[in-house]
Amino acid sequence: MKASKQNPNKNIKGYVFQTQRWSLHDGDGIRTSIFLGGCPLRCSWCHNPESWSRNSTETVSVEEVIKTIKRDEVFYRASGGGVTFSGGEPTYQTEFLRGLVKSCMLLGINTAIETSGFFNWKSNKDIFQMLDFVFVDIKHMDSKIHKKYTGVGNKLILENITKISDLGKTIIIRIPLILGVNDDDENIDKTSRFILENLDIEGVEILPYHNLGEYKYKELGLDTQYQFAEPAKERIEEIKDRIKSHSINIIDY
Ligand code: SF4
Repeated sequence: MKASKQNPNKNIKGYVFQTQRWSLHDGDGIRTSIFLGGCPLRCSWCHNPESWSRNSTETVSVEEVIKTIKRDEVFYRASGGGVTFSGGEPTYQTEFLRGLVKSCMLLGINTAIETSGFFNWKSNKDIFQMLDFVFVDIKHMDSKIHKKYTGVGNKLILENITKISDLGKTIIIRIPLILGVNDDDENIDKTSRFILENLDIEGVEILPYHNLGEYKYKELGLDTQYQFAEPAKERIEEIKDRIKSHSINIIDY
């Protein structure tokens, strides 16, 4: 029986702003990354400002996205890969994301998500129960500083990360490393302690800031409120060593 015939989610529509096949850095094995439009945050270092809006006339159906995903099904199985839902913030299109994750589950395809952690838990809990793997950011442990640089505080995010961990999901915590914002020893130690006290994770992945997205702000006519420098290799290694000193695993893809 074809999955599309038994799939009640196939006609749900949403906005995908990019699809990347053969992705190797968003989880295990060969993956297809699906980038869903819309994000409630406004991180000052975001290198995908084109992802902020979820309003587009170019919507696609779950069935169409699944058709693309299925093209590489054989490679997912051979490599231990699957599909990664990214954004933007993929939970910002909750119904569409739910339809996609459910459809993958029906096909037995492994699913991962890259999330900011900023979403309504009640509306999204069932989606996280279905997902196999979660990448979630911790950007700053101080809520005021978090709000200054991302537009939102960190309370909801830290609560949601704890709930995801309580579901027993495989989690990698990602820290976007932004010099002068979150790279100080105090914040790194607080982040490490939060992880140790509240979470069961595979490890931490450090994502050093890069300025490859700067031109997009000009193209979109957006102001860049802050300027950031790319961290030196030595500083990145120091931060990794500091996190390791708390007996937390560092993930290097
Ligand atoms: S959460 Fe991600 S997509 Fe949203 S603004 Fe921050 S970096 Fe950009």
